[in-house]
This record gives sequence, C-alpha cells and structure tokens, in this order.
Amino acid sequence: MTELLLRDATVDGVRTDLLLRDGRVASIAPSIDAPGATVEDLRGRLVLPGFVDGHAHLDKTLWGGPWVPHSAPPGLMNKIRNGQVRRPELGIPSADYITALLSHMVTLGTTHVRSHVDVDPEVGLGSVVAVRAALERLDGRITAELVAFPQTGMLISPGTAELLEEALKQGVEHIGGIDPAGVDRDPVKHLDVIFELAARHGTGVDIHLHDRGTLGVFQFELIIERTRALGLAGKVTISHGFALAGADPETRDRLVAGLAGAGISLATTAPSPALPLKALYEAGVPVTLGNDGVRDLWSPYGTGDMLERALFQAKHSGFAEDADIALAVDAATLGGARVTGLGDYGIVEGARADLVVVDVRNAAEAVVLRPVRSLVVKAGRIVARDGELV
Ligand SMILES: [Zn+2]
Repeated sequence: MTELLLRDATVDGVRTDLLLRDGRVASIAPSIDAPGATVEDLRGRLVLPGFVDGHAHLDKTLWGGPWVPHSAPPGLMNKIRNGQVRRPELGIPSADYITALLSHMVTLGTTHVRSHVDVDPEVGLGSVVAVRAALERLDGRITAELVAFPQTGMLISPGTAELLEEALKQGVEHIGGIDPAGVDRDPVKHLDVIFELAARHGTGVDIHLHDRGTLGVFQFELIIERTRALGLAGKVTISHGFALAGADPETRDRLVAGLAGAGISLATTAPSPALPLKALYEAGVPVTLGNDGVRDLWSPYGTGDMLERALFQAKHSGFAEDADIALAVDAATLGGARVTGLGDYGIVEGARADLVVVDVRNAAEAVVLRPVRSLVVKAGRIVARDGELV
C-alpha cells in the first residue's frame, strides 16, 4: 500500500488535507492522520485535477531537437504536403522528440493526452510505433490514447483506409477523419467509411473539421446523423469545428442541441473566434482543450501548457470573471476527462489521484500567472516537482 498525504491544500477555496492511496483519492478532510504516509506540506497551494490534453499531435513534434525554421506556405493543403515531404529529412516521427515533449507536458501538469497519429501509405504505422515507444519510456508518468489519423486524406490517398483499419486491429483506440468535404471531396463516403470501421471495431471516432460556413455545418449534420443511427453516443468527437464558432445564433443553437442529443463531444485548440463554451456546457456537450501541434512543421508555436490553452480559451471567449475563467480550466481538466471517457476523475474521494499543485489560490489566478507546477501527481505517484521530471 502506497500512501501520499497532501497536507494543507486548497481545493475549491477550502483548505483541506488529501490522502492518496493506491492510485486513488482515499480521503478529503481537514487534519488527516496517516502514519506511514509520505507527507507533502502544500502550505495552502491550489490543487487541480491533472490536465487532460484532448487534442495533440505528438508524432509530428520537433521538441528537444534543433530549431527548424517554419517552411510551410499558407493553407491547409500546403501544410499537409509540406509535412509529408519534409518528414523523412527531419527524422519524424522521432521517439526521442516525442519523449522530450511528453516529459515537458508532465512537468506542466498534464496527466493524460489524446494524440492523433498520422497514418498514410508512406509512414504506415510508424507514428503509432514511435508514440508507443515514447510512452513506454515515460513509464506511467502520463497516459495516452491514440487516434489513427488520415492527415493526408483517406479517399484521395489509396491504401490509407486499409492502414487505418490495421491500426485499429493493433489496439489504437479511435479512428480519425479529416475534412470529409474540404480534403477528401466526398463527405458522405468519407464518413460512411470511418463510421463503419468504428462500429465494426468498437472504437471511438475523432474527426478534424476545419471546413467553415455552410459546408462545415452540413458535415456537422452528417456526423450527428451517423452517430445517432449507429448508437455511438459518447464515442464521437468533432475536433476544431470552426463552422460552429462562426455560425449565426440560430444555426449555432440547432447544432449545439444536435450535438447534445447525439452525445457528441468537441475538442478545441481555443482559437479566435472561440467555440461557444457556455452554450455547450449548458447543453451538456463535453468540451476538451488541446495544444494541437507543438513545435512542428505546421507551426513553430506551442509549449504544451494546458494553462496557456485555458488562457487562450478564456480570452477568446471574452471571459474576465473568476467563475468564467474557471470554466476554461474545467475544460482543460474535467472536460478532457469527459471527452476521453477517463471516468472517476476530479478531486473527489474514489477518483483517480491525477493532480497538479500550483502556488496560487484559485483557478483564475492559475490561468493568469501560469506558475511553475509545484507538484504533479499521476496515479498517486509524484511524477514532477517544481518543473522537473521526477
Ligand atoms: Zn489536429
């Protein structure tokens, strides 16, 4: 039995002790007596649930390597092509770079990540192998679930659908899609292939949908329709969903109700215009935040910090009050757990002991200051301290 006692923590504005035992939150109460437990005196620091990065591209990263100047011309298709052409020259996917990024994410308090991994005829399942190798090196300090992602298109890239299915057979948890209309030029066929594979293999679905305007709205409707028809409530995520952020109020309300009714969740990197976070929460649509690519051929930006992502969401939503900013933090923690189906998450007795400690007193202050993470706890074990991996 391993016990960790976090003494004098602040949880939701209340000073309390937290006793963690065998990977779970065993007890939350003032002045817990636990002889034999390892004790950490937090002196009133804030404890939050561990961050869940619900949309990452670990396999693309150059983190930990030499700086690579950005070279992709503007536009989605140009970025896709540039990534494909330059990948071999830069040794991507690299288990070393992925390990470096995952280690950095752990020090920033991320305890679980959903990563899309490119699957195409050139790289095959090499990205799946590289990410899994890096996760093994992290030895349980962070957990991940993968999405087999047809980055270069599926219908326009012969052989990709078969590779996606092979990835699912090898235990990849979700099948991905990408702009069924904008990239693959046939939204009905693209979605039919993906949903059929998901239903047959019992996996989740996570679709990148950058298409805006009525074309994007139409694809939202197609996804809602298929999710309902196949009874996949709770297993389908739409990533980005720019069309929802840009929709008129009537269309927005109709889509939000449709998503809620079908049990579809959303993943956002918190750009501007932002997804309507409050309307989605009110309707019960789970929302996760994600860092997307961190320093890769798509963009030189990104730090992997979920508090920074919460800041983007709060600012782009026009939030300023504490309760509103806390909503962005909720999306970075509990929202991610809801989308990924982690279950038993949060700071309640019986939940997974995945926690992060910051030297502030509330969630809004954490977002504004984004201080060094004092402690990161994964499954009851200290995995990082003061910004260093343990
Ligand atoms: Zn993405």
